[in-house]
Amino acid sequence: MPEYVGRFAPSPTGPLHFGSLVAAVASYCDAKSADGKWLLRIEDVDKPREVKGAAQSIIETLATFGFEWDDDIVYQSNQIAHYEQALSQLKQKSLAYPCTCSRKEIADSSNLQGIEGVIYPGTCLHAPIKPNTPNAWRIKTQGFICQFKDAIQGEILQDLSNEIGDFVIKRVDGLFAYQLAVVVDDALQGVTHVIRGTDLLLSTPRQIYLQQALNLPSTHYAHIPIVKNSAGEKLSKQTLATAINPLQAKQQLLEALSFLNQSPPDILYQATLNEIWQWAISNWQLSRLTT
Ligand SMILES: [Zn+2]
Repeated sequence: MPEYVGRFAPSPTGPLHFGSLVAAVASYCDAKSADGKWLLRIEDVDKPREVKGAAQSIIETLATFGFEWDDDIVYQSNQIAHYEQALSQLKQKSLAYPCTCSRKEIADSSNLQGIEGVIYPGTCLHAPIKPNTPNAWRIKTQGFICQFKDAIQGEILQDLSNEIGDFVIKRVDGLFAYQLAVVVDDALQGVTHVIRGTDLLLSTPRQIYLQQALNLPSTHYAHIPIVKNSAGEKLSKQTLATAINPLQAKQQLLEALSFLNQSPPDILYQATLNEIWQWAISNWQLSRLTT
């Protein structure tokens, strides 16, 4: 097994925008500069949110930009059996429990506000669930305090039960939650290093908790600053981020490297795409990124 396996895992909810390009460039340069593998995974577990043709468009754009991924592309929609298996393991350990509460019932029954909204009050853990009602699955978080060192953000501490609460791992509509899918996939793909935007920093303790609960290896994390628009919002489909233009690949790759504080020299504006990548990989320094 290689010592470094990185990955880029876009959701096919729209074309690749500059924010996702930055995350792809960071994970790619970090992996390649360590002689590691770099894998591509399409996070299409949330089928209703998928935009038709987006996965193919993302893959083609990455190829035009000169990214070269190792191994076959993994699609989360093909991994459901693995997620089911992980859920059964958590049930066997009595860590997962069914929940029939509606959003409104949770809002009405909890006055605990966490860092990502209302904290689930544990209704279905302490009382019988409603009969003949579709249920989600939650994981018990009682007493788990997560501490890890992020390569960019430093020491992170999160008291999972008091800041997040028992979270959903399989939704009431039968879809697996992002947190579970990511952890299972990273382990199956042998991922050792996760480089991604700080918008996912609060999710990391949930993923570390699931890794431990499923006896999976832990990964190294580095959360890079996210690209914002002029209104200070994260670039995303919701904030109407414009797609990157494969016809301007060199220019946009250099802009991504500048955003990542790698200070590409002006002469690279005359270089070929291949030369820019060579420079980017041999001069890559994660330590140039700050919080
Ligand atoms: Zn419930």
